[in-house]
Amino acid sequence: FAPWDDPTKKPLIRFEGVTKRFGDFTAVDNLDLHIYEREFFALLGPSGCGKTTIMRILAGFDPPSEGTVWLDDVNIAPVPPNKRPVNMMFQSYALFPHLSVYDNIAFGLKRSPMPKSEIDGRVQEMLRLTRLEKFARRKPHQISGGQRQRVALARSLAKAPKLLLLDEPLGALDKKLRNDTQFELMDIQEKTGTTFVIVTHDQEEAMTVASRVAVMDNGKLMQVATPDRIYEAPNSVYVADFIGDVNIIEGNLRPQEPGKVLIDWTEGEAPIRAEANGGLTEGTRVSYAVRPEKIAVSAERPDDRANVVQGKIIDIAYLGNISTYHVQLPSGHMISAQMTNSRRIERRDFTWEDTVWLSWTDTAGIVLTQ
Ligand code: ATP
Repeated sequence: FAPWDDPTKKPLIRFEGVTKRFGDFTAVDNLDLHIYEREFFALLGPSGCGKTTIMRILAGFDPPSEGTVWLDDVNIAPVPPNKRPVNMMFQSYALFPHLSVYDNIAFGLKRSPMPKSEIDGRVQEMLRLTRLEKFARRKPHQISGGQRQRVALARSLAKAPKLLLLDEPLGALDKKLRNDTQFELMDIQEKTGTTFVIVTHDQEEAMTVASRVAVMDNGKLMQVATPDRIYEAPNSVYVADFIGDVNIIEGNLRPQEPGKVLIDWTEGEAPIRAEANGGLTEGTRVSYAVRPEKIAVSAERPDDRANVVQGKIIDIAYLGNISTYHVQLPSGHMISAQMTNSRRIERRDFTWEDTVWLSWTDTAGIVLTQ
């Protein structure tokens, strides 16, 4: 059982009906959310959706306008930021430029009642954890951006908080370093067993690092689930569209035998065969979401797939490992399909303006009613 599927497991953090208003603007709207110990939890959403506001409420910088936040069954509203077992790492890292890496990491500990010998042990442990032993004596300007990021992380973890909040922690790093650092973060999170909550607007990053992802829009939680559920079973067009590429097809539902439906497209393609749970009646307006990689492109008409349509290639984007094909159907609909290039060596199967068949199975897509 994952902790979020285990009804006997108590969450570390519990938001109950939390709303945050700034004047008459609602930044966080009636949030109910559980985060469990040792989770790497990601808050994902477009700019301004309320991610940072949630972090600031957890850190104690802003009180909620309504509702309660519980940490280990304690209402944290009256607990000031420095008394919470919570630390926040900012995107800017906020390292002290005149202090060495060692002293930056030791800074918070020196202001605590911890004895000096213990502080040294703790700093050494943090240096090892973040692979910074060799840089202990350097100043922040004498190390790379990735190393600075690790110093900030070591400093945030030095006091062993129960909860570490990371606001766009990798935002300042370039793409390659960012990808490597994501794995390091996951490794460090696992080794320390600290609960991490990360804010990001990079969906790939959220999917890579997180045990669960919360997708937000306009101060509301749209879906909270594991990365694979978010991707494979989004609960709305918004989530499907926010995470990865997707084709959204509008149509009217025609229930068939139990669990099977046909979707009549608006512009006269052969109906789509799909699976859907019951409760949907004839004529219901639905959005059908199917990921490009679930759609195969072929020169010959496949005879073993539930959905087959013909179209013309308008565009091909070659991305190395995969190619994306934009295919126009006779009705004018554009569909994007993706094929891996793993078995193609110096051979381009299709080119622009080729007429091809697109095909996918009846379980490839999802029927969404919102
Ligand atoms: P980003 O990804 O750009 O950081 P975000 O999802 O973290 O965005 P928040 O910083 O939580 O968004 O802000 C949510 C909304 O609340 C925004 O529209 C913002 O303008 C507004 N807001 C945040 N803080 C304040 C404040 N102190 N006073 C007024 N409005 C605020």
